[in-house]
Amino acid sequence: MQVLHVAFDDTDSRAGRCTTHLGFKVAEHLKKMGVELVDYPLLIRLNPNIPWKTRGNGAVCLRLKVPDAGRVIDYVRQAVEEGSAIGSGANPGVAFLESDRIPGRLQEFSSIAMCDVMSRQMAEKAAKAAGVQYFTFGNGQGLVGSLGAMGCLLDGDHTFELIAYRKLENCGLPRIVDEQQIIKFSVDTFPNTFNNYDPSHKRVLIAPHGPDPVFFGVRGESAEVVASALPRLKPEEELDGWTIFRSNQGTNMHLQNEIRVAEVKAYTAGYVRCKVKSKPVAMEGGHVIFTIEQAGAEMPAAVYEPTNLANVASKLEPGDSIEIGCGVRKGTSKHPKILNVEYLSVLELAPIYNMLNPLCKVCGKRMKSEGKNKGYQCDRCKNRDPNAAKIMTLQERAIKAGLYVPTPKAHRHLTKPIQRYGLEKPGFVKSIARG
Ligand code: ATP
Repeated sequence: MQVLHVAFDDTDSRAGRCTTHLGFKVAEHLKKMGVELVDYPLLIRLNPNIPWKTRGNGAVCLRLKVPDAGRVIDYVRQAVEEGSAIGSGANPGVAFLESDRIPGRLQEFSSIAMCDVMSRQMAEKAAKAAGVQYFTFGNGQGLVGSLGAMGCLLDGDHTFELIAYRKLENCGLPRIVDEQQIIKFSVDTFPNTFNNYDPSHKRVLIAPHGPDPVFFGVRGESAEVVASALPRLKPEEELDGWTIFRSNQGTNMHLQNEIRVAEVKAYTAGYVRCKVKSKPVAMEGGHVIFTIEQAGAEMPAAVYEPTNLANVASKLEPGDSIEIGCGVRKGTSKHPKILNVEYLSVLELAPIYNMLNPLCKVCGKRMKSEGKNKGYQCDRCKNRDPNAAKIMTLQERAIKAGLYVPTPKAHRHLTKPIQRYGLEKPGFVKSIARG
C-alpha cells in the first residue's frame, strides 16, 4: 500500500457545482475502489482576499492508502475534468503526491497561499520541487489551491464540518430547514458547534441560498458533534449523502502573519499591531474609518457595518494600542490601500483627559477664565483667584480593553468565532476516517 495525497480546486463556477461536493463524490467512489482514507477529507480555505475566488476560496485534499496509485490518479484526473464547470468559469488544478510525508516546500507554499497571492507559475515551480504530479484545465489557476490544500498539514488547530448534499433534482429549490430545531441544537451543543445560527439577527447560518448542492453544513470541534446534527435536524428532503471534512475553518489561519504597514501588499491578510492615529469617522452606511500608525507608517483602517464592530470602533481614540486582524483592500486612483478589519483587539486604552475650569473656593461654583494667564473669577460670588489653574480629569472611556469579533452572520469561513478562543487544538490524533 502506498500513501497518495490527492488535492483539487477551482472546479466550480457561480452557476453551480462545488469543489467540496466533488470531493464527496470522489471519496465515495474511491472507497468503493477499496481505497482507504487515512484522514478525514480536508476542506482547506485559503486567502479569502483573492479577487478571482468564486465564493469561499476552498480546496479539497484526500490523503489515501492505495494499492495502485496509477489507477487512482487516472480516475481522479478524469473525475475532476468531467466534474468541473470548465468553460464557464472553472480553472481546475488537480495534484498528486506519492509520499508518506509532505515536503517542507509544499508546507511553505500552503502557509503563504493562506495570506498572500500566488501565481500559477509559482505553483508549478513548487510542485516540481516537491515531486508533485499535476494536471490543469482552463487557465490552471486551480493548481494554487490544490497545492495550498495538499501542503496544509492541519496538525495544529482545526475544526470539522459535516456537509450534507442534495440530490441533483432538488438543487435550485428552496431548502426547508426547521429554525427551532437548529436553535435548540445550537444551544445544546454549545460551545462545541459554531455558526449554526446568529441570534442577534435571527438568521440560520447552516444552509446556503444558492443553486449549489450543499443542503447544509454544520461546523464544530469534533467529528462526533457535527455528525450528531443529522439525526437532530432531520432534513425533510431525501439527501444524496454527507461527509465530514476536517478543516481550518474557524481558526483564523489566514491572520497568523504580522503585516508591516510600510510594506503592505494588496489582497494580503494578517494582523497589525499599531496605534490609533486619528479619531474614527462614521461613513455613510454605518461604516467607520480611522487612521492607524505603526513604526512611523500610517494607513486607513475600515470597520464595516455588517460586522457589528463599527459601534465599538467609533469609540477608539488617538493613542489607543490595538491589534487588528485584516485583509488589505487594493488602492485605486480614488482611495489608498485600506485595512479591512476582521477582528479588533484593544490592547491598551490611552488616557484621555478633560480640562475643566477650577471650582470657586468660596461657593463651589465652576469659575470663568479672566483671559490667558489672568486667573479665574466666580460668576456667582465674584471671588477672584489669580493663581487658580485648569483641572485635569481622567475621562471614563466608553470602550474596554479586550477582543471584539464580528457577529456570526458576517464571519468569513476562516474567522475564529469568539467561543473558540481557548478551545484551540494543539494537534490531531488520527482516528478513523469516516464519511
Ligand atoms: P467554492 O468556495 O465554491 O469552492 P472558491 O471560492 O473556492 O469556490 P474557486 O473557484 O476555487 O473559488 O477559485 C479560487 C481560485 O483562486 C482558484 O483558482 C485557486 O487556485 C486560487 N487561489 C487560491 N488561493 C490563492 C492564492 N493565495 N493566490 C492565488 N490564487 C489563489
